[in-house]
Amino acid sequence: MEYEPIIGLEVHAQLLTKSKIFCGCSTQFGVEPNSHTCPVCMGMPGVLPVLNKKVVEYTMKMALATHCRINEVCNFARKNYFYPDLPKGYQISQYASPLAEHGYVDIELNGGRKKIGITRIHMEEDAGKLLHDEHTPSSYVDMNRTGVPLIEIVSEPDMRSAEEATAYLKRLHEILVYLEICDGNMEEGSFRCDANVSIRLKGETAFGTRTELKNMNSFRNVQRALEYEIRRQEYLLASGGEVVQETKLWDDAQGATYSMRGKEEAHDYRYFPDPDLVPVVIDGRWIEEVRETLPELPLEKRERFIQEYQIPPYDAGVLTSSRVLADYFEEVAKLSGKPKAASNWIMGEILRFLNEEKRDITSCPILPQSLSELIQLIEDGTISGKMAKDIFEDMYTTGKGPQQIIEEKGLVQITDEEILKKAIEEVLAANPVQAEQYRGGKEKIFGYFVGQVMKVTRGKANPALVNDLLKKMLAGS
Ligand code: ADP
Ligand code: MG
Ligand code: ZN
Repeated sequence: MEYEPIIGLEVHAQLLTKSKIFCGCSTQFGVEPNSHTCPVCMGMPGVLPVLNKKVVEYTMKMALATHCRINEVCNFARKNYFYPDLPKGYQISQYASPLAEHGYVDIELNGGRKKIGITRIHMEEDAGKLLHDEHTPSSYVDMNRTGVPLIEIVSEPDMRSAEEATAYLKRLHEILVYLEICDGNMEEGSFRCDANVSIRLKGETAFGTRTELKNMNSFRNVQRALEYEIRRQEYLLASGGEVVQETKLWDDAQGATYSMRGKEEAHDYRYFPDPDLVPVVIDGRWIEEVRETLPELPLEKRERFIQEYQIPPYDAGVLTSSRVLADYFEEVAKLSGKPKAASNWIMGEILRFLNEEKRDITSCPILPQSLSELIQLIEDGTISGKMAKDIFEDMYTTGKGPQQIIEEKGLVQITDEEILKKAIEEVLAANPVQAEQYRGGKEKIFGYFVGQVMKVTRGKANPALVNDLLKKMLAGS
């Protein structure tokens, strides 16, 4: 029997606003616990929340980037539950009328494209954070995160494999970071995902019972958790069992999911409209203003790079993985007029050197101008590819331009035939026995001569010219 997985994701992204969603407290991460709090985010009686306009604007950006319809009027609702990190006893979220609905993103997988539907995008506040002391039976609560703005992006159950789910998640992540509305840090929890998964027999139309997976803090873990859960459900059904609806936690160390709560313990949140907040009315003019500010998005940039610079899709994918990297590439491509060479240098040397030091392109010691000069020096034959690699290393460590390094080290390639002929004559005169062997048919010895000429010229001879001249001169004399 062949089963088909059905997956839908709920993604929470923390917005990069300076202040919280309903008060003026800072959203800064990693500061003294409970230092960024006030009566509003502490949920004191009698206070009134006031909506941060930037939160609406950022959510609109994401809505537009994912082809959602933005509702003219949306409302906030109270989601009631008790937990020590939630001082009010309810979370302000959106329920019946979210900010945006009915969107999609395109994912690319195995050369094909697929649309994944987005059900809704809504705004909400984050809860606080509990810190459990390992050494004493105490827990502490930090309210700095209370009231930090989040958006929740709920997908349609459109994904059919763990791979598709990961591709979708990466696409959302990429868009959020491109829009500069979320830092995308999964380890710090600024981008997190709950995965709903069920399976059904291939060909069936009804969905099976789903489980919801939580606690996966990397793309890899989302994929692993889903693969594990799909296999678990398949095994269960194939052996005559039944999937029960439950919420499960992913245990990274064990590589398994385990039950957190069943359907019986599922919350009834008793949602109702928050009487402290007025409806949010978004007019068409504001939507158009926000649309104007959208940057070129990753997928469009990728396509443009393939068209405009004639580089392979793989290159375009790597180079558009971040906006700053894409900008860097474009500058080198334009300055040098050699996009493919620019791509090779960036994907090869630049990223390798940066990765070794865990740096990103914004702190690259080689400026686009310098890299494009290096590319031009290879193109016009001033230096060989081999020399360029060495010069590159010097450029990276010293921050100097290629010209300066070439001058300081006297590295210019020798392309003058007369000088090269002299060097070859010298080598042939010093190696009469080997020259005889070559003429006698031992062609393998050719490489030896090339090496000797390089040695005499201290690596500066143009290799192609040396090859040509050597062949002629060995045959001739
Ligand atoms: P809840 O808010 O209770 O988690 P929703 O109806 O909002 O429930 O659904 C949450 C997510 O679960 C959505 O992304 C949706 O696509 C997905 N989903 C719903 N039914 C299934 C199913 N049978 N199998 C897999 N995913 C599902
Ligand atoms: Mg859910
Ligand atoms: Zn506050």
